Amino acid sequence: MIKLNDVQDVRSSKNPIISEMSRMGHEQVVFCQDQLTGLNAIIAIHSTTLGPALGGTRMWNYSNELEALNDVLRLSRGMTFKASISGLELGGGKAVIIGDAKKEKTDGLMRRFGEFVDTLNGHYVTAEDVGMTPHDMEMIRQTTSHVSGIPKSMGGSGDPSPVTAYGVFMGMKASAKYKWGSDDLSGKKILVEGVGHVGMNLVKLLSKEGAIIYSTDISEERLSIAASDYGAIIVDKYEAYEMDIDVYAPCALGASVNDYSLGRLNCEIIAGAANNQLADEQRHGQIILDKGIVYAPDFLINAGGLVSVYSELKGYDFAEIISKTEGIYDTTLEIFRKSELEGITSHEAAKQIAQARIERVLSE
Ligand code: NAD
Repeated sequence: MIKLNDVQDVRSSKNPIISEMSRMGHEQVVFCQDQLTGLNAIIAIHSTTLGPALGGTRMWNYSNELEALNDVLRLSRGMTFKASISGLELGGGKAVIIGDAKKEKTDGLMRRFGEFVDTLNGHYVTAEDVGMTPHDMEMIRQTTSHVSGIPKSMGGSGDPSPVTAYGVFMGMKASAKYKWGSDDLSGKKILVEGVGHVGMNLVKLLSKEGAIIYSTDISEERLSIAASDYGAIIVDKYEAYEMDIDVYAPCALGASVNDYSLGRLNCEIIAGAANNQLADEQRHGQIILDKGIVYAPDFLINAGGLVSVYSELKGYDFAEIISKTEGIYDTTLEIFRKSELEGITSHEAAKQIAQARIERVLSE
């Protein structure tokens, strides 16, 4: 992570941004600025070894530019691992637009952002992420063709969230199989934190399976839908962490697996959709391992949406999307076995498998 002091240290002969890119393995970082529309954005291309760097654009009101830069560097690297472990011919990239999506977003700003994406000639392909809407993607598409995840009405693959949820469900079932010898989730007590696009679809699948679902969210509206449509039991977030549950499914924001939650959580499995769940990959991954909790790596089990978006680039094939997403089950088990055999965290095991595929391609 780049800190303010690094940037301010003008005596240093090293460029802190390039040093961090080198440490994390990024190929290219593009800073975009436009006075007319007020656009301030960063596009990070982590890797194009396996294919074009695909990853969504996030519009977020970052408190400063460094926070935005660190976020885009971390997220784009995660996309490389996600694509690689899912066997896709895709690299990893991500973009962030700095600003308040509710107040500062205009169609002109989106179109201008698209022009910047276009200058990269397809090395980076964008998609929807937090703070963006299908309408924004339509605006971006007016100035670049390097966009994926467009609405079904426009010939695209549509909202990827149901497929993401299905992949998470597969990862959760594989975790259950590994931990309890059966992947049947009926009667299991599952806490779904965040019942948004993915979380609600997951709740739907879990309810069909006969699980006992507990839900937390900051939106009363979402909670009441989860309760009325799928019988979820609404719980207070902080009380939920202290409850006796079987599975914790983080489906809201990143870094929810941290010192606070791990100090309280009483569960046997962690499997959810949120990106970058571990606040500290190494340390929290190790605490989870030491506690005997089975952790399904986020970038593996939430890859269903990427599989769906990828299919749009290759020629939409729903059967193939489902089959690839169901493959998450076997890959999750493979990772747990590697983790056990080598005494490493499941997150590290998944990263090693993803990196090995990239290294194989690089050495060909
Ligand atoms: P979303 O914005 O639709 O849903 C997030 C939900 O979390 C919302 O209902 C929100 O109110 C709730 N929330 C926010 N802060 C919370 C908190 N502190 N405690 C409890 N609830 C809180 O987003 P989504 O598309 O459902 O994505 C959920 C997560 O999964 C994100 O981390 C996203 O990056 C990741 N993810 C999504 C996809 C996808 O296909 N949408 C794919 C891969 C990863």
